[in-house]
Amino acid sequence: MSNRIETECLIIGSGPAGYTAAIYASRANLSPILYQGMEAGGQLMTTNDVENFPGYPNGINGPQMMEDLKAQAARFDADIRFGMITKVDFSSQKPPYLCISDKGEEIMAKTVIIATGATAKWLGIDSEKRLNGSGVSACAVCDGFFYKGQEVAIVGAGDSACEEAIYLSKLCTTVHMLIRKDEMRASKIMQQRVLNTANIKVYWNTETDEILGKFGVEAVRIKNKKDGSMQEIPITGFFVAIGHTPQSQIFKEYITTDADGYIVVKPGTTVTNIEGVFACGDVMDRNYRQAITAAGTGCMAALEAERYLSH
Ligand code: NDP
Repeated sequence: MSNRIETECLIIGSGPAGYTAAIYASRANLSPILYQGMEAGGQLMTTNDVENFPGYPNGINGPQMMEDLKAQAARFDADIRFGMITKVDFSSQKPPYLCISDKGEEIMAKTVIIATGATAKWLGIDSEKRLNGSGVSACAVCDGFFYKGQEVAIVGAGDSACEEAIYLSKLCTTVHMLIRKDEMRASKIMQQRVLNTANIKVYWNTETDEILGKFGVEAVRIKNKKDGSMQEIPITGFFVAIGHTPQSQIFKEYITTDADGYIVVKPGTTVTNIEGVFACGDVMDRNYRQAITAAGTGCMAALEAERYLSH
């Protein structure tokens, strides 16, 4: 017996982009099926308080917000499924497309919305994992405000790290910027801005040995790679800004991505190079990476899927 399912709209991923796409697609009577992916709710599941999503004057914690978005999509009968899409076949370049789940379900989709997000890269040390959400964060714009008037550290030397260090410097007394080489990868202008900001202290040739603290971050122990010397800096927040990995692997055979794996869309839209396939959220956005912008592009993807189907 075949376990093939047909749908007007398959949504892959369950962050703000995926759930918003599901809300719009279900209200447009597309009866979407949404696969939540490995980490249902996406990156916000590891965020404590979200204070910059409009509509929550007192803030909301990340997991609760994802529950609310899920409930809103379910209210309009989006078919929300636990599990992953592990394989897609867009080779025909004309829908319907066969997509296969980790349970072996075969979905024939007339439109596909990719909302698989991106994952922050981490240093990979134990204390970083243990204190994640308790002083350790990979998003200064999301969490910087909680460290207002305090000392923080940030690791990384790309444009993101520079941008986030400058953002933090406006809130925090001192930003200790830990750079593993004797140069920064960031664009010259961003480097200059960092170096010209009085309360950003740059540590060259420096790696993080350990983040210290029992229930929250209290200090960071750093190692100078040149002379091997160790130093402890008292801080309350530790930010990791060493890049993100867009979750685009299973689509790469068909979908155009840039050199870093971000899905390329037609500017100002969520349209990919494959007819009937749309991309939204962090998997196509290297710049903003905010819940609200992901939700915005999720809405765009659903509207574009609906228009595609009605034509
Ligand atoms: P990048 O990959 O450009 O930079 C990552 C940085 O993290 C590098 O400096 C790298 O060091 C460092 N790093 C990586 N692993 C470790 C580690 N284990 N320990 C310590 N440091 C580490 O990532 P970004 O997120 O900064 O930028 C991604 C892309 O997005 C870039 O193309 C960037 O230009 C772009 N971008 C543009 C912005 C803008 O135009 N406004 C804003 C933000 C990003 P090393 O140099 O030693 O390898």
